[in-house]
Amino acid sequence: MRVTKRHLSSLSGSLKPRVSETQPTPYSWINNATPSSSTGRLAGKSIAIKDNISYQAASTSCSSSILQDYNPPYTASCVQALVAEGAHIAGQTKMDEFGMGSQTTHLPSNYTPVHIPASPRPDEPPRSAGGSSGGSAAAVAEGSCWAALGTDTGGSVRLPASYCGIVGLKPSYGMISRRGVVAYADSLDCVGVLGRDIQTVEEVFNVIPRPDQGDMTCVSSSSRSAAAQILDNHLPEKGIEGLRIGLPREIAQRTSSALLEYLKSQGASIEEVSLPSIRRALPAYYVLASAEASSNLARFGGGWYGSKNDQASGKRSESGLERRKRIRTEGFGKEVKKRLLAGTWALSADEFDNTYLKALQLRHLLREEYQALFRIPHPLLNVERRRQKQKQAGEGLDVILHPTAIRTAPPLNTREDRKTKGKGMEEYDQDLLTVPASLAGLPSMSVPAETGSDGWPLGVSLTSQWGMEGLIFRLGRVME
Ligand code: GLN
Repeated sequence: MRVTKRHLSSLSGSLKPRVSETQPTPYSWINNATPSSSTGRLAGKSIAIKDNISYQAASTSCSSSILQDYNPPYTASCVQALVAEGAHIAGQTKMDEFGMGSQTTHLPSNYTPVHIPASPRPDEPPRSAGGSSGGSAAAVAEGSCWAALGTDTGGSVRLPASYCGIVGLKPSYGMISRRGVVAYADSLDCVGVLGRDIQTVEEVFNVIPRPDQGDMTCVSSSSRSAAAQILDNHLPEKGIEGLRIGLPREIAQRTSSALLEYLKSQGASIEEVSLPSIRRALPAYYVLASAEASSNLARFGGGWYGSKNDQASGKRSESGLERRKRIRTEGFGKEVKKRLLAGTWALSADEFDNTYLKALQLRHLLREEYQALFRIPHPLLNVERRRQKQKQAGEGLDVILHPTAIRTAPPLNTREDRKTKGKGMEEYDQDLLTVPASLAGLPSMSVPAETGSDGWPLGVSLTSQWGMEGLIFRLGRVME
C-alpha cells in the first residue's frame, strides 16, 4: 500500500516527528528507504515499526531526547526478516519514552500525544491509544500501514490493541530475536505484532521468529524443532473442538457470557480456575522492570550514546561525572527518571532481599501456577521434568481467557492535565491484566471481541503454553 502525506496528516499523530530536520515535518515517513519488493511472503506490504527497534535508514530515538540524534549502525534482526520477505518499512511510530508508560503520553515536548483515530462518539474528547506502542496501534487503526511492530514488556502491544479495537500479539519470550531492539527490561521484552485482523498478525508473525546468535535469549533452532514436534501433536484436528479454556477467577469476572456461550457452541469447554499470585503480579512487575531498566539505561550518558550536540554546548570545564549527570538530567523525561530511581533503590544493598528478591519469588510462583494449569508441559523443559508434569489425558487447560484491560480507553491524559491534576496510580493499574503473561514468558494475544458499556472496544486476551501461538490464532479466528 502506498501511503501519502495527506492520508496521514488528518489523524492521530502516531508517527514521530523528524527531529533532525530544520523544517520539522509532522511525521517521520521513510517511504524511499526500502522500496517494497514484488517477491516474498510480505511483498508490497507496508509495516510501521516502533521507534525503539533499530532501523539503519533512520534515527531511532525511543521517543527520548537523549537519543534524538542516534543513528543505529545496523537494522534489528526482526526488521531484516520483514525486509527479506519484501515488506516495505513504512515509518517509525511514537511510543512512551523507552517503553515506560501505558498511554503514549511520556513524550519529548515537540511530540504531540497519540490518540485513537476513529471514535464511536465523535463529540467526546479524544481517548488514549494506550501505550507504550500507542503509535504503532494508532497507525494500524487509522490505516496508515498494513501492520506494525511494537514491543511488549508488560502489555505495551496488547493494551493499545485493546483500546484501539485491533489485534495485538505478544509472542512467547525468546521466540523473536531482540537483537537491535533497545532494551527496557531484558527478561520481559518481546517484539510484538499489531494488525487489523488475525490473518494479518499471523502473516507477519510467520516471518519473524528465527534463531539468532546475536540475542542469547532467542531460542535455538534445535529447541524450536523439539518444541514444534511436541506442540503439533496437541493441536485439535480442526477448529476449537475439544479445546479447554480456563477463566482465572481472580480477574475474569467481566468476560461476557454471550462470548463464552458462543465458544462452547463451537466445541470448547470452559471452566473457572485459580491463579492466586496474579493479584501480586503488578507490584512484582514494576520492581523487576524498573530494576532491569536502571541497569540497561546506565549506558546512556554521553559516551557511546547520548546527545552529540553536547560537544557544542560550551561546557568544556565540567568533569566527566558532571557531564554525565547533566546529560541524563536533561535527556531523560520524568517517568524514566522515576523508574530509574525506583529500580536503583530496589537493587540497593539494603533493599535487595526485601524488594528485588521478593519480586523474583513472586514471579517464580506465578510461573508455576500457570504451568500447573496447562494440559501440556512447557516444551523447553527437559524430558524428565516434562514427564513428571505430564497430565492425564483430558486434564488441564489449553488457553486462559480474560479481558485485556480493566477498562476501555481512558480520555487522553495530556501534559497539561498531568500538571494540573497530578498523576496517581491509574496509569499503572492499566497493566493489571497484561503483566501476568509477561512475567510467565507466555504468548498472549488481545482480540477485539467485546465492547465496553461506553461503546468503546475492549480486547479479550488469550494466553497459552510457550510456543502455542498457532493455537491462539486458531481460537482468535473463531472469535473474530
Ligand atoms: N506500562 C508498562 C510499563 O510502563 C508496560 C510497558 C511495556 O510493555 N513496554 O512498564
